Amino acid sequence: MSEKNSKTVNIKSSWERTLSVLRAELGEATFRSWFKHIEFGELTEKKLILYVPTKFMKDWIHTHYSDRILTILKNDNIPVSSIFFELQKFKTTKEPLNNNLEKTITPSKPSIHTKYSSDESGDHNSMLGAPLDPNLSFDNFVVGGSNELAYAAAKRITEVERVSFNPLFLYGGVGLGKTHLMHAMALEIKKNWPERKVLYLSAEKFMYQFIKALRFKDTMSFKQQFRSVDVLMVDDIQFIAGKDSTQEEFFHTFNTLIDHNHQVVISADRSPVDLDGIEERIRSRLGWGLVTDIHASDYELRLGVLQTKAKKHAEDNPEIIIKDNILEFLAQRIDSNIRVLEGALNRVIAYSSFVNKPLTIEMAQEVLKDLIRASQRRITIDDIQRKVADYYNIRLSDLLSARRSRTIARPRQVAMYLSKILTTRSLPEIGRKFGGRDHTTVIHAVKRIESLQDSDNAIQEEVEVLSRALEN
Ligand code: ADP
Ligand code: MG
Repeated sequence: MSEKNSKTVNIKSSWERTLSVLRAELGEATFRSWFKHIEFGELTEKKLILYVPTKFMKDWIHTHYSDRILTILKNDNIPVSSIFFELQKFKTTKEPLNNNLEKTITPSKPSIHTKYSSDESGDHNSMLGAPLDPNLSFDNFVVGGSNELAYAAAKRITEVERVSFNPLFLYGGVGLGKTHLMHAMALEIKKNWPERKVLYLSAEKFMYQFIKALRFKDTMSFKQQFRSVDVLMVDDIQFIAGKDSTQEEFFHTFNTLIDHNHQVVISADRSPVDLDGIEERIRSRLGWGLVTDIHASDYELRLGVLQTKAKKHAEDNPEIIIKDNILEFLAQRIDSNIRVLEGALNRVIAYSSFVNKPLTIEMAQEVLKDLIRASQRRITIDDIQRKVADYYNIRLSDLLSARRSRTIARPRQVAMYLSKILTTRSLPEIGRKFGGRDHTTVIHAVKRIESLQDSDNAIQEEVEVLSRALEN
């Protein structure tokens, strides 16, 4: 190995060590908020370059952690005298543009409440269609088992000029990401093919435009405008059920576009065959291309969505810290749909900033009472006790006994903690189920496991593995 290469290896592994030291010192949650997305750049002439994703993080890490990083590296015999932070988007390596799409479109502080920035380009979409929300990008879309086919199909359409499936028909229950995917496609096509005319609108708006054209006896230009687009996306097509003349007009537009190999993308809350109130010939035509559904989300996807949103929020509001165990709790307990999940996160964030301190599971439970009750799972304390005893390889009777040895007390605390977060039992009830203990013992256990999860990776993993096993 050349000397230069071995130096690079050295500094790289030293950087890894630095990160583990920081992780240990700061705790998992803090570490993750600041260092998870930091990237090692290079070390030349004692200058270390690190890449960070946002200006805010750059300033923060610089003022708070520069010295500490230097000290750790120097202790590791790395010849470094200063650290420079650079923004990731200015890196010389070519990054796909879309990573910065949102920043390009809304240079001012993006927040999770930002909706609908105006579509100023004066292009097709702004006349007939609905404005596109730059937050609903592919980058912000979390992919999981329930939506990967829909995602892959959507992505494909934005990458090639002509795909073999036309129309693409996306369907699924409310709040599962159909509109998000359609916006993402429209944004991406506009970026990749600026000359193509993309029109996104809801079926409702389609009808509105159509009726307006009828009233103003302007159907010719209505037809022309719709039929001249390269990509037409109509959201929530179930809306035109029972609206016969709108259906008819839509059907002609649809056929014309498909006959000319222009891409059509349709979404609905159910599959084409189930679209009652829409004519049979239209239903069957809608199913000619690729029909793909988005299923209800699973735990991983929900957690992924929450982490993405929380991270984004934390960049703008670092003073509000939502710990990972809270996100896990939300992902476990709120399984209706992603829109509701986002609402829950927003509520938790609002509450946290209001009380001005980090949220505990207890508080989250209180704030989200109504939502949690609606999506109750039937895990019992007995299930939890059995699973925990089994996992730690101890006897169930020991778990419930008065014994205080650590090999038993810790699993018992974990079991109490899980009983608190996975069931709706009250603290006294849980205490009773654990060999008639007092509710203060349960409180203590819950607090203990909560704080251990920050400092002890092993515990964090055990809790996660156990709660997943219990969910399934
Ligand atoms: P639908 O159109 O299917 O009713 P939406 O596309 O409006 O659902 O999604 C509801 C909310 O959930 C939106 O804020 C959207 O950004 C978010 N969402 C849905 N699926 C995902 C996902 N996979 N990743 C990130 N956010 C998602
Ligand atoms: Mg929708």
